Amino acid sequence: MNRNLALARPDILKLQPYQHGAWDASVERMHTNEMPWPPHNDTSTWGLNHYPEPQPTQLIERFSSLYGVMTRQILVGRGSDEAIDLVVRAFCRAGTDKVIICPPTYGMYKVAAKIQGADVIEVPMICGNAFALDVSGILAAINDTVKILFLCSPNNPTGDSLAEQDLHALCSQLEGRALVVIDEAYIEFSHRDSFARFLSRYPNLIVLRTLSKAHALAGARCGTVLADAQIIHLLSGIIAPYAVPSPTVDIVMQTLCAERDLQEKIATVLYERAFLAEQLLKLPLIVRVWPSDSNFVLVECRDAQTVLHAAHSAGLIIRDQRSHSMLGQSVRISVGTPEQNRRLLAAIAAAKEVAA
Ligand SMILES: *Cc1c(COP(=O)(O)O)cnc(C)c1O
Repeated sequence: MNRNLALARPDILKLQPYQHGAWDASVERMHTNEMPWPPHNDTSTWGLNHYPEPQPTQLIERFSSLYGVMTRQILVGRGSDEAIDLVVRAFCRAGTDKVIICPPTYGMYKVAAKIQGADVIEVPMICGNAFALDVSGILAAINDTVKILFLCSPNNPTGDSLAEQDLHALCSQLEGRALVVIDEAYIEFSHRDSFARFLSRYPNLIVLRTLSKAHALAGARCGTVLADAQIIHLLSGIIAPYAVPSPTVDIVMQTLCAERDLQEKIATVLYERAFLAEQLLKLPLIVRVWPSDSNFVLVECRDAQTVLHAAHSAGLIIRDQRSHSMLGQSVRISVGTPEQNRRLLAAIAAAKEVAA
C-alpha cells in the first residue's frame, strides 16, 4: 500500500468511477449507442464512429518503452495541463488544502490550484548566477494541509534544470507528507535522465511528460503522468471518459517511431540555442542570457519593451516575462528555425541603433 494515497481527498478515494462500455475489439459493438458506420471521409484505423479505448493499450506500451517505466505506472491524457489539473483535483480539498510552487515557474500550477479552490504557497527560487530551489524554505512551509509540491525541471521560464540532490532531498523528506510533482516538459533538450527512474524509490513522486515540446506534437494534445501504480489508478478514476481521441492515438503511433528525426531536430535546437545566446550577448540592449537546458532562453534586457517591439516589427512574437516580479526586464525566446533566429537577432541589433 502506498501511504501517500491517504493524502488524497477522502471523497475521491471513495468515488465509484464512471463505468466505460466494456472494451473488447474482437466483438461487434452494440453496447455504447454509436452509429454502426464510420462518418464520411473517415481514414482512422479504429473508426471515428467508435468511442476510443479509454487508456489506449498500444500507446501505453509505446510510452512504457519510451520512458522506461512499467505500463501500470502510466496514465495518458490530453497534455501535461490535464495531468496538472487531475493531480490537484484528486488531492486538494477546496478551501482547505494547499500546493507549493517555486516562482518564477510555469503558470498552470497556480491556475489549476485556484480553479480547484486550493491555496497557493509561493517559495521563490533563490537567484544568484543561476536559479536554485530554496529547499529549507520549502520544508519550512510544509504542514498537514500542503498536499502537492510542484517543480519544473528544466524550469519554464528560467530554462535551467533543478539540482538532482535537491529533488532527492525533497522527495525523501516529503514521503508520506506531500506529493512531489516534477514537470519534465523540456527534459528531452537537457542532458539529464528523467527523474522517473526513481519512481520505485519515492512512492510520492509524480513525473509529467508531454509530446508537445521536443516531439513537436503540441496540436495532438498528448501527455503522460508517470507515478506509482496506485496513484495512477486513483487518477484514472477522475480523468474524463475516453480522454484520448483516436486520431491522436493514430498520429502519435505514426510519429513516435522517427527517433532519428527527433534526435536531429533536438541537436539543431541545441546548436541554435547556443548561437542565439552568444549573439544576443553581443547586443547592447541585452544584459544577460540565463543558462538553458530547454528549447528557449530567458533573456534580461536593458529595456524589454524595445526588444518585444523589435521582434514584432520583424514579424516575430517572443514572450514578455515582466509579470514575474523577480525577472525584471526579461523576455523568453523560443528557439526557432535558423532563419527566424537570425531575423530576430538582426531586428534587436537594429533596434539598438534606433534607441541610441
Ligand atoms: C508547455 C508546457 C506544458 C504544457 O504541456 P501540454 O502537454 O501541451 O499540456 C507543461 N508544463 C510546462 C512547464 C510547459 O512549459
